[in-house]
Amino acid sequence: MICIPITARTESGMAAMMAQAAPLADVLELRMDFAPHASLEPLLRNRPCPVIVTCRPAREGGEYAGDETARIALLQKAVDLGAEFVDVELDSAARIRRGPHTRLIVSHHDFTRTPDHLEEMHRHLIQAGADVAKFAVKANDVQDNLRVLRVLRNTKHPTIALCMGELGVASRVLGRKYGNFLTFASLAAGRESAPGQVTVEELRGMYRYNKIGPKTALYGVIANPVAHSMSPAIQNAAFAALGIDAVYLPFKVEGDPAEFVRAFRELDAQGYSVTLPHKQAVIPAMDEVDDSVRQAGAMNTIVNRAGRLCGSNTDIPAALGAIEEALGGGAPGPAHPLKDKEALIVGAGGAARAVAYGLAARGAYVMIANRTHERAVALAREVAAQVVHMDRLASVRPQILINTTSVGMLPDVQDTPVPASALRKGMIVFDAVYNPPETRLLREAKAAGCVCISGVEWFVRQAALQCQLWTGRPAPHMAMEKVLLERLSRR
Ligand code: NAP
Repeated sequence: MICIPITARTESGMAAMMAQAAPLADVLELRMDFAPHASLEPLLRNRPCPVIVTCRPAREGGEYAGDETARIALLQKAVDLGAEFVDVELDSAARIRRGPHTRLIVSHHDFTRTPDHLEEMHRHLIQAGADVAKFAVKANDVQDNLRVLRVLRNTKHPTIALCMGELGVASRVLGRKYGNFLTFASLAAGRESAPGQVTVEELRGMYRYNKIGPKTALYGVIANPVAHSMSPAIQNAAFAALGIDAVYLPFKVEGDPAEFVRAFRELDAQGYSVTLPHKQAVIPAMDEVDDSVRQAGAMNTIVNRAGRLCGSNTDIPAALGAIEEALGGGAPGPAHPLKDKEALIVGAGGAARAVAYGLAARGAYVMIANRTHERAVALAREVAAQVVHMDRLASVRPQILINTTSVGMLPDVQDTPVPASALRKGMIVFDAVYNPPETRLLREAKAAGCVCISGVEWFVRQAALQCQLWTGRPAPHMAMEKVLLERLSRR
């Protein structure tokens, strides 16, 4: 079930929000502590769907700061009026008289941490008479999700268990696979009742929450930061388009990604995307890696093959595929279209490294320029490339020019890494930056008659290749690109 908390500050505001939320939810939570002057009776009388009545005291992270006797009296009234659920904290549960129509949610909240001994706490909630036991705890580490999901997996008692905070999103979505009684979703961004709640639109649309079941396969992206990652939107859209029973989640991994991967083996995830800053540090957790990872020393994809974790790098074939298509295609081999082509890479970070390895392996003549010259020298040495000074870009005249710096990225859209004087008709200009989809570099390249490749193309191709590795089916490239462009246009 999906529960939307009603967090308006007035009775009329609550009534309006209930009407708006009801079509999107199975149950609404009337947060009476948010609207201390609201009258419960009319709200209950006119409720459009089942409700939970909650009046959370400040000591458990709520907004109620008044008299405790009055608070208990309000909850008792909710029971007497036949609200479907009343939420009462563990330390107050004994003060509520039961009624025939109301199920008691006995709850515990910890906004500071995920305590040890969750099982013991869960037992206490049940012993206190919970029809539904509930605990919401703050995740300080992504592995706290595992501990919460373990409780859900091991109990038959109706239970709501979740991690709060940015690190807890996985538990809010994946809980359903392990029998979570319900999860909370906000009606809209900014209307959350607790940190880390996703919007109901995301929960239903992007995560397809109502379709998650015991057999749903788990995928995710390992990153830090992860909040603005586009990968959950496009990979979940791909699974939906392919009709695959799978969900793809964001995992904000602040520590060692190899340790995360080992710990999360318990959930038998079928694959991960790996992105900044973990593309190298995750390698030791793999059972095997393919040639692309061995060559570039970085990976962005984990595939679970019958329990063996296999590392791969789709950044390289995705970038090369986009350039090859611009060159008119052709199969790899001695007559490869990239052979002997002059390619200038601007930048010497992770993206440059992937592109440089790929181009060098296909026989291109690679040149590298970078703001920090020594980094260009170091990368050039690794891939046997030439180094070009940044102030000589206009005199190089390569056939392919690739920007792998973040210059031109939102919000600095007026910046460009390459002067317009360096752009010539017929040159292939590839910008790794995908936000905005058309950078100043690409605009000026288009005006100069260059063949342009946007970072969107690279991003979608690497994601599509991941999807293909995981599912064994051709990825819905168009659907993925559509979702990415739609998300980017919202920013
Ligand atoms: P990174 O490892 O941090 O490298 C950043 C590069 O940008 C370095 O070469 C850095 O030069 C240069 N740089 C940063 N700010 C600069 C400035 N103001 N002037 C000149 N150079 C500057 O990052 P990365 O992983 O390579 O990613 C770089 C860009 O590529 C990002 O915008 C990322 O979003 C994009 N990317 C896109 C895709 C895709 O799928 N489209 C894939 C990967 C990356 P210094 O060495 O001098 O610091």
